Amino acid sequence: MGVYALTGGATGIGAELKRQLVDQGHRVITVDIKEGDIVADLSTADGRQLAVKGIRERAADGLDGFIPCAGLPPVARPLSLIASVNFFAVVETIEGIKDLVAKKRGTVLIVASNSAPMVPTDDRFVQLCLGGDEAAALAEIEQRDGHTAYAGSKRAVSNWMRRNVVDYAQAGVRLNAVAPGITRTPLSEQVMADEELGPAMQQFGEMVPWGGTAQPEQIANVMRFMLSREADFICGSVVFVDGGSDAMLRPDDF
Ligand code: NAD
Repeated sequence: MGVYALTGGATGIGAELKRQLVDQGHRVITVDIKEGDIVADLSTADGRQLAVKGIRERAADGLDGFIPCAGLPPVARPLSLIASVNFFAVVETIEGIKDLVAKKRGTVLIVASNSAPMVPTDDRFVQLCLGGDEAAALAEIEQRDGHTAYAGSKRAVSNWMRRNVVDYAQAGVRLNAVAPGITRTPLSEQVMADEELGPAMQQFGEMVPWGGTAQPEQIANVMRFMLSREADFICGSVVFVDGGSDAMLRPDDF
C-alpha cells in the first residue's frame, strides 16, 4: 500500500480524502494548523519548513502522492494570508518534497477551484505569484478584494502546475489539479455566512447545471482516483468537479 502526505487534513475535503485513503490501507501523513501528524502554520516560512522537514522524516523512502489541500476562503483576513496559504505554501511544500515523490514515481495533486478561471493569468496579482515574489504579491493583494485573492491564487496555482508539468514529469512526478465547485465544508460555510459573498455564493449554487453543491466525498472520490496508479496517464490536467458550472460559464474553453 502507498504512503501519502496531505496538508489541510483536519476538516473538509482533506479530512475526507484522508479517511478514504486510510480505508484503502494507505498510510497518510497529515499537516494542518489545527491538528495532524505535523502541526504547522503554512502561512509562515517556519511553518512550511516544519511541514517539509516533518514529511521528510516520516517518508524517507518516498511518497506515492502529495496533496497540498490546505486553503483559506475569500473571507479570510488579512488578504495576504489567502495568497500565502493558497499559493506560496503550496508551491514551497511541493518543491520541498519533489524528490521524495520522484523516488516512487508518484504524483502531486493540487487543489485549485472552479473560480480559478474567473481571474485572468495576466492579472498583476497572478503575475506576481507566478514570479515567485511573495512580498510583492502580498503587498499587491492587500489593495484588492477577497474574490481576487482567492480565485487569483487558485488561478496562479493552476498556471504554476501547467508550467511545471514537463520538468516534473522528467523528474518522475505526475502533476495535476482538481478544481472543485462549491463543496459543503467549514470553508464554504464561512463564505455562506458572509454578508456580501454569502448571497452571491448561494445564487451561484442555484445556477449549477447538475444541481446545487457537493459533499466532500464527491470531490475526494475523484481525487482518490487521480492519485491512484489506475490514473497514471493523467498528467497536467485541471479536472473540474463542479456540477458543470465551469462549462456553463466558459462553454468554448477547455
Ligand atoms: P476546510 O476549511 O474544511 O479545510 C481547509 C484546511 O486547511 C483546514 O483543515 C484548515 O485547518 C487548514 N488550514 C488553513 N489554514 C492553514 C494554515 N495556515 N496552515 C495549515 N493548515 C491550514 O476547507 P475545504 O473546503 O475542505 O478546503 C480544502 C481545499 O479545497 C482548499 O484548498 C480550498 O480552497 C479548496 N476548495 C474548496 C471549495 C469549497 O467550496 N469548499 C471549492 C473549491 C476549492
